[in-house]
Amino acid sequence: MKTIGMLGGMSWQSTSSYYRALNEGIKTRLGGLHSAKICMVSVDFDEIEKLQHAQDWDATAAILAKAAQSVEAAGADFLLICTNTMHKVAPQIEQAISIPLLHITDATGQKLRDNGVHCVGLLGTRFTMEQDFYKDRLTKKFGIDVVIPDDADRALIHRVIYDELCLGIINDESRSSYLKIIDKLKQRGAAAVIMGCTEIALLVQQAHTAVPLYDTAEIHAQQAVNFALSN
Ligand code: GLU
Repeated sequence: MKTIGMLGGMSWQSTSSYYRALNEGIKTRLGGLHSAKICMVSVDFDEIEKLQHAQDWDATAAILAKAAQSVEAAGADFLLICTNTMHKVAPQIEQAISIPLLHITDATGQKLRDNGVHCVGLLGTRFTMEQDFYKDRLTKKFGIDVVIPDDADRALIHRVIYDELCLGIINDESRSSYLKIIDKLKQRGAAAVIMGCTEIALLVQQAHTAVPLYDTAEIHAQQAVNFALSN
């Protein structure tokens, strides 16, 4: 079994979901007392969040590249960046290490393509929904059209991620708002919706809606389990 490297803490609420999913995935495949081999560096999200909102992406890249080097030095065979947003600086992180990076957008794009989804809605931070690094990869690499919510809805989604979900606050009213936004994306042609922020599954689950949901944290962790157990 390969050792999984994790860049965590963004936020720790979802890193905790990853940790559980990785261990459950290994146990499902190998049974008994088997668990995942993991090396993790968990950063202080307060520092990252301030730099994100100051648009100082170079500074976030420097912090995460150094953290990734520590993960590699600790013995990881490959790396997961346990957040969608910080894949904005995935190229800089990848350059700083010699182990492979399992990209969250590729894991999700592959699954969407396997399931024949050609048009998908995207929920995430404003950075993920509005900038090119995520949507372009889905379109250029996997041929998938991406629909994003309107400006007011993007503001709501972003606020709930930072003011609630990353603090572990789960609010019924926010869930209703998210579900309405998911329905609007469906009406605009999305056959499915990507939960493109690793905390969203703490608020919305498949049981809440008939629209197919793609939980990026779960998909990314599942791909890591498969990779860890491959030859
Ligand atoms: N975990 C979130 C994501 O998947 C948001 C936190 C962050 O900005 O990294 O994008």
